[in-house]
Amino acid sequence: MIRKLPWACLLGWLGGMGLVPGSAPAAEPKRPNIVFLFSDDHAYQAISAYNDPRKLIETPSIDRIGRQGMRFDRCLVPNSICGPSRASILTGKYSHINGFYNNSNSRFDGSQPTFPKMLQGAGYQTAMIGKWHLVSEPTGFDEWHILPGQGVYYNPPMIHNGKRVKHQGYTTDLITDFSLDWLKARDKSKPFLLMCQHKAPHRDWEPPLRHLGHNGDRVYPEPSTLFDNYEGRGKAESDQQMTIAETMTPGDLKLVPPNGLTSEQKKTWDAYYEPRNAAFRSAKLEGPDLVRWKYQRYMHDYLGCVKAVDDSVGRILQFLDDEGLAENTIVVYSSDQGFYLGEHGWFDKRWIFEESLRTPLLVRWPGVTKPGTSTAQIVANIDFAPTLLEAAGQPIPPDIQGKSLVPILKGETPADWRKSFYYEYYEYPQPHHVRPHYGVVTERYKLVRFYGSDVDEWELFDLKTDPQELRNAINAPANAPVVAELKRELTRLRTELKVPDQIPEGATGQSPAPRSKQAR
Ligand code: CA
Repeated sequence: MIRKLPWACLLGWLGGMGLVPGSAPAAEPKRPNIVFLFSDDHAYQAISAYNDPRKLIETPSIDRIGRQGMRFDRCLVPNSICGPSRASILTGKYSHINGFYNNSNSRFDGSQPTFPKMLQGAGYQTAMIGKWHLVSEPTGFDEWHILPGQGVYYNPPMIHNGKRVKHQGYTTDLITDFSLDWLKARDKSKPFLLMCQHKAPHRDWEPPLRHLGHNGDRVYPEPSTLFDNYEGRGKAESDQQMTIAETMTPGDLKLVPPNGLTSEQKKTWDAYYEPRNAAFRSAKLEGPDLVRWKYQRYMHDYLGCVKAVDDSVGRILQFLDDEGLAENTIVVYSSDQGFYLGEHGWFDKRWIFEESLRTPLLVRWPGVTKPGTSTAQIVANIDFAPTLLEAAGQPIPPDIQGKSLVPILKGETPADWRKSFYYEYYEYPQPHHVRPHYGVVTERYKLVRFYGSDVDEWELFDLKTDPQELRNAINAPANAPVVAELKRELTRLRTELKVPDQIPEGATGQSPAPRSKQAR
C-alpha cells in the first residue's frame, strides 16, 4: 500500500509532467530538508516549553521550535530505554519486530529498512552525528561520526565513517560543530537529513565547564514524591535500584572527578566542585537531608547538561536562518525517552509511568504547521519514520507500525487517530532491577502487568484521579468493567502488533548474544 503523497509533492510531479498550467516544465519538487535534533534522557520536565511547575530551567532555543511549530504533549515511547528507542525511531517498529530489546546484549540489524536508508535511496544526503548506541555500524548514512557505546562528555573518542578518531572538547559542542561542518560542506542541489544526536543529558550528567554554577547555587523545588515509599503498589515499584537515596554513585554526585579531563579542564572543574564537596563532607548529612543534597546536586549537573543541548539547538537554528534554509527545513527536537528528576525518589527511566513513558517532541515545519500549536493526541516515536517519509514524498512501507503525524502537523487530526498505546519493557535484572512489563495506555488509564520468576502483578492507574500514579486501583470493584475493557484492548493490540506469546530468548539481556562487528 502506498499512502497518499503530500500535495506539494504531487503538484511538483504534475508540474514536472507539464500538467499544471503555468508551471515550469520538469521542475524538481522542492522536498524539505530534515534536521533531527535528538538528546538522551531529556525529561520534558526540563524543557521550559512544557511548563513544569518546578520551573527547573529556561530552554529558549528548544522552546523556539515549539513556538514556531507544534508541541506534542503526549509523545510516548514503546520501550523506555536508550538503544531500543533509537531502533524504534529508525524502523518505525516495536522492539519485538526490529529485534533490539535492551542495552545489554541487543545489536541492531542494520540490514533492515530504516527511514534514513529510504531517504538516502530517494536522493537525500544523510548524516548521523553523535550518539548512535546501536552496537552495529550505522547504515543508510553518507556520513557518520558517532560516539562508541555510551560515549563520554569530555574529549571523546569517536568513530568517523569507520575510522577511530579522538577529539578534544565538550562532546555536546563537538557534535554541534561536526553537524554544522557537514551542513556547510553538503551538496546544495540536494535535500538533506541531518541526525544530530547528543549524549547529553545522560548519566552521569557532566556539565560543560562554562555552565558550572549556571544556577547560582539555586535551591530547586523538590517533587512531591521525592520520598515516595511505594505503598499502594506492587513489588516491582518497591524492589528496584534507581533511587537518588541508594543508587547514585560518587561519580554521579561529582564527589570524584570524571576521568579524561585535561589538566586545564580539571583545574576549572575542581575550582567549582571542590569547595562545595568539602562543605558537603563536613556537614555529615544523613537520612532525608542527604537525599535532599543529592537531589540538588543532581539537578545542578543534569540541568547544566541540558543548557548545553539548548545552546546546540540555538546554533543549529541560527545556521538555518543565516543560510536561508529555515523555510524549507523540518526541524524536530526529541529525546530517546523521558526521565525521572526525583519523582518517586528516582532517576533513570524504563517504567510505563508518565515521566519515563513520555518523551519531548517539538516540530517546526514552516508553511505546513501552524506556529504556536500543541496537541494532546497520543503519538509515539514509531511515528517519526512514517512522518518524515511522507514529508519527503516517499511511500510508507506497509509493515511500519507507526502512523504518519503529517495530518496532525497540518492541524487535521484524523477521527480514527489512536486512542490506546501498547508498551513493553524487557531488560532485567541489571541495571536498575526494573521487572519486565507490558501494558496498555489510554488518555485516562494504564493497565500494566509486571512479570518474571518472582512476580506476576497487574496494576491499574487512573490518571484522572491519580495523576502521579501512586495507587494501584486494580482491585477496586468499581473498576472491574474498565479492567475488563482494557484487557480486551491489550489483547487486541498484542495481536495487531504481532507480539510473541513467549518472551524471545535474550530479550531481557541476560543471555549472551553475538556481538561481532560492533561499533564499540
Ligand atoms: Ca536514553
